[in-house]
Amino acid sequence: MTNHCAWQPSSFTIMAKPRGPICNLNCLHCYYLSKEQLFPGSDFRMTDELLENYTRQYLDSQSVPEVNFVWQGGEPILMGMDFYRKALQFQRNYTRPGMRVMNSLQTNGTLITEEWAQFFHDNNFLIGISIDGPAEIHNHYRVDKQGKPSYERVIRGLRYLQQYEVDYNLLTCVSVNNADRGKEVYQFFRDELSAKFIQFIPIVERENETGFQEGGHLTRRSITPQQYANFLINIFNEWIRYDVGQVFVQIFDTTLASWVGEHPGLCVFEPTCGLGLVLEHNGDVFSCDHYVEPSHKLGNLNETPLKDMVFSERQYNFGMLKQTSLTKYCQDCRWLFACNGGCPKNRIRKSPDGEPGQNYLCKAYQEFFSYVDKPMKIMAQLIQEKKAPAEVMAMLREKESEVLSPLPETSKAPRTKRRRH
Ligand code: SF4
Ligand code: SF4
Repeated sequence: MTNHCAWQPSSFTIMAKPRGPICNLNCLHCYYLSKEQLFPGSDFRMTDELLENYTRQYLDSQSVPEVNFVWQGGEPILMGMDFYRKALQFQRNYTRPGMRVMNSLQTNGTLITEEWAQFFHDNNFLIGISIDGPAEIHNHYRVDKQGKPSYERVIRGLRYLQQYEVDYNLLTCVSVNNADRGKEVYQFFRDELSAKFIQFIPIVERENETGFQEGGHLTRRSITPQQYANFLINIFNEWIRYDVGQVFVQIFDTTLASWVGEHPGLCVFEPTCGLGLVLEHNGDVFSCDHYVEPSHKLGNLNETPLKDMVFSERQYNFGMLKQTSLTKYCQDCRWLFACNGGCPKNRIRKSPDGEPGQNYLCKAYQEFFSYVDKPMKIMAQLIQEKKAPAEVMAMLREKESEVLSPLPETSKAPRTKRRRH
């Protein structure tokens, strides 16, 4: 018996966690370490049987030509290289003609050796490295189980990736620890680490015992909306002057996509959720990486076909709730086309009219979208005219006031060193 509903998206992504939440580090702002308590007595290792079953079903349920296997954790490198060799073999066995399979892996970088870098290069893995800034910023939260800093080990891994020409991007958590140093963090990534692709993830953490999305109190590590707005605007000011077309900052790209009239391609800003699921090491499937909790478990792959879980009414309802639960304030917002109310996990405040379910980061989004509106319109126009959006940089040099509005008072940051040319 299946519980399919009419909803059958042509593509979805599964984030697989072959080692579950197990990690060699103990980052203080990690949202996933606490998931260990969901699997008491587990050895936290995906079996070969499950790996093969998952690979077959994942490929079988996609109707698009490109399928991305996403490996995450915890620390997925802890599975060892043989596991990924088997994964690649299974992918070869079950790929349909005309299908292109890719692999991406998110890691803290500390366990990357030359051998791993060679392996990632040879098998075209895209590697995401979690790093929060220069050493003193990064080491504040990203420590190992002994409380020792991890920065030097991350950089060693990153240098191996560069040496072996592995494609990589940087993933940075924006917390109280680095929120006021956005431009400095960005310049460091660009100038010292040669980063071309950067994602910023705002830390909005609930203070509770379970690690679930419950309760309205936030931890002290969480950023304020104003800090997040400042962080983004300060980086945008640097990017729009020097780096358009050279450095790709995820939130700037997704914003531009919205201004062009396309899908942002980032779940936080999509109108609905439900297309990014999690497969845990034991076969449990959850609705979303930020809802790995019993109430959002869809089933287990050892017992239920993947399609039945992904295309279930339950998952459909989870996805639609993002849209149907928008506050009136969001529905009337001029930025709704780009924001879509933001991630439901952060809808923990009341709107100015007193309606519950307003996004905690709303003010940040409003300030950011207002500030970038003019340059985004210009870049969207350039794209429409089949020109490079990077031309905006020359326009800005010629007449700044026609591209950028003055920096909001609230977003003025202390001066940091200028880029080296
Ligand atoms: S709940 Fe948040 S993180 Fe999950 S799919 Fe929706 S927007 Fe993305
Ligand atoms: S900016 Fe605020 S009001 Fe507007 S859609 Fe986003 S969360 Fe809603």
